[in-house]
Amino acid sequence: MAERRTFAIISHPDAGKTTLTEKLLLTGGAIHLAGEVKARGQARRARSDWMKIEQQRGISVTSSVMTFERDGITFNLLDTPGHEDFSEDTYRTLTAVDSAIMVIDAAKGIEPQTRKLFEVCRLRSVPIITFVNKVDREGREPFELMDEVADMLALDVCPMTWPVGMGGRFEGILDLASGSVARPEGPSKEFLGKIDTDATIPEEFAEQVELAQIGYPEFDVDAYRAGDLTPVFFGSALKNFGVTDVIEAIATHAPPPRPQPSEAGPVEPTKDEVSGFIFKVQANMDPQHRDRIAFMRLVSGTFKRGMKLTPSGLGKPIAVHSPIMFFAQDREIADTAEPGDIIGIPNHGTLRVGDSLSEKNDIRFTGLPNFAPEILRRVKLADPTKTKQLRKALDDLSEEGVIQVFYPEIGSQWVIGVVGQLQLDVLISRLAAEYKVDASLEPAPFATARWVKGDEKKIDEFAGFNRANMAKDRDDDPVFLAKSPWDVGYQQEKNPDLTFSTTKER
Ligand code: GDP
Repeated sequence: MAERRTFAIISHPDAGKTTLTEKLLLTGGAIHLAGEVKARGQARRARSDWMKIEQQRGISVTSSVMTFERDGITFNLLDTPGHEDFSEDTYRTLTAVDSAIMVIDAAKGIEPQTRKLFEVCRLRSVPIITFVNKVDREGREPFELMDEVADMLALDVCPMTWPVGMGGRFEGILDLASGSVARPEGPSKEFLGKIDTDATIPEEFAEQVELAQIGYPEFDVDAYRAGDLTPVFFGSALKNFGVTDVIEAIATHAPPPRPQPSEAGPVEPTKDEVSGFIFKVQANMDPQHRDRIAFMRLVSGTFKRGMKLTPSGLGKPIAVHSPIMFFAQDREIADTAEPGDIIGIPNHGTLRVGDSLSEKNDIRFTGLPNFAPEILRRVKLADPTKTKQLRKALDDLSEEGVIQVFYPEIGSQWVIGVVGQLQLDVLISRLAAEYKVDASLEPAPFATARWVKGDEKKIDEFAGFNRANMAKDRDDDPVFLAKSPWDVGYQQEKNPDLTFSTTKER
């Protein structure tokens, strides 16, 4: 069985995730996929156009999971739609990976989306390899960028490579361990494979390089795997610098499939019983059929086509006859999958995000969080007789992770919450297109939501005083709808026995 590396790329829009993804796939020989990634990148740019979103969704089934092989290792790259259309879906994908590459634009440093996604990785101690991209252009000082990663993310940093100049004076990427330099060539100044093994560093950069060599602690693989240290690579995805460096770093240092937390303790990948969890559901892929694809991360055992697994939410086994498997281009269609692999399971709504699947129905994975939405809206129906359809639609879409829905204790208007603005457009379009529900959104008098946790009696007491701000989520768990972040702090101070949580685990 080939070794597995299951990873994701996190970044802020335009940092170069699509370009790096393409180059990684090219390096791994999965060339046919590179075009699709591009197509998606372009589609993404026309965000307002619903057709385009639809197109993107269509294409993203195949590119949700990109598998390639290199040097006997199978790489599973999971796509995280890291743009403004980012939703809980994005976050949850990060629960299915064992490591991540963080792409930073050398001119911009750590940007907001990078930071948010990083925090999610931190929740699960996902190890991060940092790739500082676009050194072929003028960027910020490498030392300044290193400091920013260390300070903003509270991580130890360890440079593995270093840029010899940037922008117009870019002369290559120095490998700090070997001293060799990858050189730009030709009119486009790309990396075409030219490596100087005993390169001399021009005087103007020599001092900086020396400082980089001595100024940081040595790379410590355990600290990296614990999520405390990030190795930093410099490069240019566009000009092909650093691409093999990061893929080799993933191969050499990134953890193989990790044990996953469950109610009865971590489940090891070496366990014989087949088990996995659903981290993503894509509904209504085909408007003619109300089918969905549930994406399962295999945690343990060898999955075989046709196998019977019991989803925790259902209680009775389902036979997985036609799983979608994602394989490297030139490998024969295999019928098995190993821990770390992803399989897509077509179903009619029986599988939900957060479900655990196992042969004996005895494993419950934990740690698939919901995230507190940052935008809250009331849903207003054009035709009040469509209440039932609306409820069904909101339940479906919250199941998919497109939105979260809260049912206030007082009043009849449901509140929906999202973490990104585009999710609101997606919601309205899909309500109309798929559920024939004409609805609009109104401002809600709340700024944020928190799950209230603690002793049941204490929660009831709290709810009694704050009826107008209490709601239930779709699992019937109590939620405090706060007028402002300040309000959350105030209530927390007044109710030290309760926790006002920004995440909820299913
Ligand atoms: P994404 O939004 O993070 O997926 O970013 P893209 O990969 O689409 O890149 C955004 C823009 O930056 C595109 O115009 C790319 O051509 C450009 N770009 C990506 N990588 C590099 C690089 O290494 N150097 C330069 N100069 N431009 C780059």
